[in-house]
Amino acid sequence: MSGRFSLYVHIPYCAAKCPYCDFNSYAAARWPENAYADALLAELARRVAEPPFAGATVATVFFGGGTPSLFHPRTIERLLDGIAAACAVAGDAEITLEANPGTVDHSRLADFRRAGIRRLSLGIQSFQPALLATLGRIHGPDEARAGIAAARAAGFADLNLDLIFAVPGETRAQWEADVAELIRFAPEHASAYNLTYEPGTPFHAQRARGALTPLDDDDELWMYQHARAALAAAGYEQYEISSFARPGHEARHNQSYWRGVDYLGLGAGAHSYAHLPAWGRRWSNERAPERYIAAVDRGDPTATAETLAFATAAAEFAFLGLREMRGIDPAAFAARFGRPLEEVHPEVAALRAAGLLADRGGRLALSERGLLLADSIFAELV
Ligand code: SF4
Repeated sequence: MSGRFSLYVHIPYCAAKCPYCDFNSYAAARWPENAYADALLAELARRVAEPPFAGATVATVFFGGGTPSLFHPRTIERLLDGIAAACAVAGDAEITLEANPGTVDHSRLADFRRAGIRRLSLGIQSFQPALLATLGRIHGPDEARAGIAAARAAGFADLNLDLIFAVPGETRAQWEADVAELIRFAPEHASAYNLTYEPGTPFHAQRARGALTPLDDDDELWMYQHARAALAAAGYEQYEISSFARPGHEARHNQSYWRGVDYLGLGAGAHSYAHLPAWGRRWSNERAPERYIAAVDRGDPTATAETLAFATAAAEFAFLGLREMRGIDPAAFAARFGRPLEEVHPEVAALRAAGLLADRGGRLALSERGLLLADSIFAELV
């Protein structure tokens, strides 16, 4: 068996838990870094002994979290060495580390780069002190700016900056200022996410009891459209709903999720996907870090596993592919599922007639209007 896959490595610890965050992350002052890294490598050894990863080549590595930049650069280096020893890594592999301002300085970032990290993703979220405070972030605007400068000084030439919009109390002028400042820093890649209220988070509960008022829909839409226009004018191509890049700097790791490429997720709560056998399967690990480490010790950290039904796999192919501006290739759909796209998804005809989906260069993509209604379109395809 040969092929390429993407490797995700989950680091579940954070300095503090942000009140809007529903990621599998835990506030911690200390963490069992060596034991956790040992477990990651033990899980890797187990997973890459089996299909579809046995003999396959790693195309991208992404250290996500949580806050991976809390780990010592030596630990990241040990993990990258372990990955290279366990499987083939493509010479041009995209190797990304998520980092939070307030956890990194120049020397630490230089050490991450020496460890083998090639791309840095900085969780800026905002340059506005009040909004960072609302979001419960541990950093202020000056630390965000210092983090970006330190990343450049450390030699990172492939930099992503994340921003969040539609924060309670945010004004259009504040968002304009955030986007303008991001553009002045000229990252190779930018992500703009609207704040969401996920069940189980403090923000969700506060909104439910009226203690927190979400931004109104008009402002949220205006902010999204402003980011799209300003980033386009600055030479960024929007290639996915929330993602913008200079040509050639698209996040290949994320593209693999949208394109149904096999991915292996290591670590607490990490998810994995294999497109074979049949319509594919996916699994996830024990979520709590201690339970994950103990389960690896016992031999298998898998907590959930699912064999995908035809309908689930066909729906995922469609709505994940439609996240990308280039859309989906109907021929690729037919080759994968043995039936034409519109036979499996008859709702496509109505969405096209309503002007929400459009044919572009032989592919089917969200229209301009469809982009603004993406979530409801995806719901129709499920
Ligand atoms: S730093 Fe990121 S992963 Fe950690 S709690 Fe905040 S949003 Fe969640």
